[in-house]
Amino acid sequence: MDHTALVTGANRGIGLEACRQLARSGLRVVLTARDPDRGADTAEALRNEGLDVSFEELDVTDGGSVEACARRLSDAGIEVDVLVNNAGVYPTEGVFSISEETFERALEINTVGPFRTCRTFVPAMVRRGYGRVVNVSSGGGSFGEGIGPVAYGASKAAQNALTVKVAEAVRGDVKVNAMCPGWVRTEMGGSGAPRSPVQAADTLVWLATLPTDGPNGGFFRDRKPIPW
Ligand code: NAP
Repeated sequence: MDHTALVTGANRGIGLEACRQLARSGLRVVLTARDPDRGADTAEALRNEGLDVSFEELDVTDGGSVEACARRLSDAGIEVDVLVNNAGVYPTEGVFSISEETFERALEINTVGPFRTCRTFVPAMVRRGYGRVVNVSSGGGSFGEGIGPVAYGASKAAQNALTVKVAEAVRGDVKVNAMCPGWVRTEMGGSGAPRSPVQAADTLVWLATLPTDGPNGGFFRDRKPIPW
């Protein structure tokens, strides 16, 4: 099937590898990033690998940027069938040392960002009767596994709640799930992390390409359910 996937925060790390693996699995990929130069260069590098990847600027903290991206795609006749909410930040300060600004920024990027993109792209998926949404969350947003540093934990727990509510709101063959990639060697995870971005992308691509009888409204790591 000729589906298009849009990935946020994809100029590096897990988002970049997600674009590569989604394109290798046969999807047309729209790689998005807030920095137009870095995003365009990254998309070009993937095209040089023979993959069907284009670039669009998208800053998840800016509703105008999300809307403008959606409009450019729509004008070009491109429908987003798969949405991967990957952009994220990981502030590690404690409850009493973190600034309000840093706390709010984490919520803006990790929670409000996916809320914006879901509201922009998911209604059209429901109208067309097909869609897959993958929210790249974290065990750090799981009460069952132990909430992470305050701003990260709160924003990812809220992203998990968003996942449940969007999953409840969709109809037809539209599936909305969250996943934890594990601890991954990226700028966020650091060089000492045990997992590669390739390993992290496996569950992401699985959720992005679920069959019709696949799960909706779940939280997964290594293709298995984990506690909220
Ligand atoms: P990363 O290497 O730090 O990459 C984060 C990406 O998010 C970058 O491309 C960054 O763009 C982008 N981003 C930040 N703010 C943005 C905004 N306002 N609009 C659009 N893009 C923005 O992190 P990663 O390890 O690949 O993490 C990807 C996702 O996996 C995150 O949601 C993270 O919470 C989750 N995760 C990661 C780990 C891990 O161990 N790495 C573990 C659990 C969950 P710039 O280059 O412009 O900053």
